[in-house]
This record gives sequence, structure tokens and C-alpha cells, in this order.
Amino acid sequence: MSQLRLSPSRVNDFANCPLLYKYRIIDQLPESPSLDAERGTLVHTVLHDLFESPAALRTVQTATELLPSRWQQQLETKPELASMITSEKEWLDRATSLLKTYFDLENPTIFEPTHRELHLEQDLADDIYLHGYVDRLDVAPTGEVRIIDYKTGKSPKPGWEEKALFQLRVYALLYWKEKNVIPKLLQLIYLGDSSVLKSTPTEQELVATENSLMKIADSIRKAIETDTWIPRKSKLCDWCSFKSICPAHN
Ligand code: SF4
Repeated sequence: MSQLRLSPSRVNDFANCPLLYKYRIIDQLPESPSLDAERGTLVHTVLHDLFESPAALRTVQTATELLPSRWQQQLETKPELASMITSEKEWLDRATSLLKTYFDLENPTIFEPTHRELHLEQDLADDIYLHGYVDRLDVAPTGEVRIIDYKTGKSPKPGWEEKALFQLRVYALLYWKEKNVIPKLLQLIYLGDSSVLKSTPTEQELVATENSLMKIADSIRKAIETDTWIPRKSKLCDWCSFKSICPAHN
């Protein structure tokens, strides 16, 4: 069997609903763009490009000035977005508001990012490849590492923090395996409700993350081998592109 390619989003897809994983990853069925995801992409692009400016110029004004040109670039790549948006002004106003929130949570004029959109990858086993893209990774002069991910949605409800941190623990595991250094801090920046979720990963947590990745890889393999894909109904179904063809809803 070919090598299984895993990433935090693929793992989440399978954990949320194996049938969703099949439709999306195995069958690669087309999906219409999601405006929430596109807004996230736009804000991520601006926050990425903001750090091209010298430190003193990384201001709200610079970020909001970047927004229209980055939006035009996104429209050129996906022209269908134009017809999905009823008011471009409202669309850009919402993105501006999220960018302003970013400056309430971090001051980008006082540090230099080490990496943006850093691709981390590793063979977890001969037949399991794991990878992911880190929004930002900063290495302090002291050598301490922090991993940052921007979210345009809201922070998790109480009790759901561990699930939210899984993605960053996977990145920390990849970084640890590559550099032999455990990151000091994982930081999820939620622009949707102006909050930050922080965690200091331990070796024990990263080993547990690797173990759970191996278990999920095993479950995916079994599903592929037996061609058994169980639909798992949840609130996520309302956002699922495949609801109209899903046997759980038909
Ligand atoms: S509609 Fe729900 S149960 Fe069906 S594939 Fe999508 S997430 Fe799974």
C-alpha cells in the first residue's frame, strides 16, 4: 500500500467523520469555497505580508492598506468569490476588524519572526508521512521557540481546549523530531473573540500526540483496506459540502 499522507487537517477530518475524509481525501470530490475559510485566507495573507515591512511600520494602518491588494489577488485566483459576496465593503470591513483585533493581542513592532508559513515534514514510519504548515515560528535569542497559529474564528468553549491544541502539538512534534528541540510555547491567536490560548508542550504530551497519530493512521488504513467509511453525524454536518449525497442525511 502507498504511503499514507497525514496532516492535522486530514487527521481532524477523519476523527470528525470518516465518510467526510473519504469524500474529501480519497475521492477528492469538488467543494464550493467557504466564505469563512476565504476570509481566513485573506487575513492570513495580510498578517504574513505585514512582516515584510520594517518593524516600526508593522501597524494597523499598514495592515489595512495591504488588504485591498491582497483581496484583489485572491479574486484573481478564485473569480467565483465575487458573486458570493453581497457587499464588498462589508466583507473588507469584517477583515479590517479582525486585523485590528490582532494588534490588540500582539505587538509586531517588537519582535522579528523567524519563519512564516514554515513547512514541517517527517516520516513517522516507513508508510506514514506527516506534514504541516506553521503560520509563524519565532526563535528567541535565547533559543526558545514559540509556534503561532492565527484563527479568524472564536476560541474553543471550556473543555475543548485540548482538541484545539492538537494541531500545534503536531507541529511541535514535527519540530522536535527535526531539530531535537521541544518548543517552549504554543500559541493560538483567536481574532474572532480577541483571545489567546497558550500551552507549554511537554515531552509526554508530544509522545502522546505521536501515539494518537499512529492510532488514527491505523484506523485510516483499516478503513481503506475494508472500504468502510462510517458517517458520523454532528453539528459539523451543517457546514459539510457533501451533506446532499451523505447517506446519513438521505
Ligand atoms: S454530512 Fe455529516 S455525516 Fe455526512 S459526510 Fe458530512 S460530516 Fe459526515
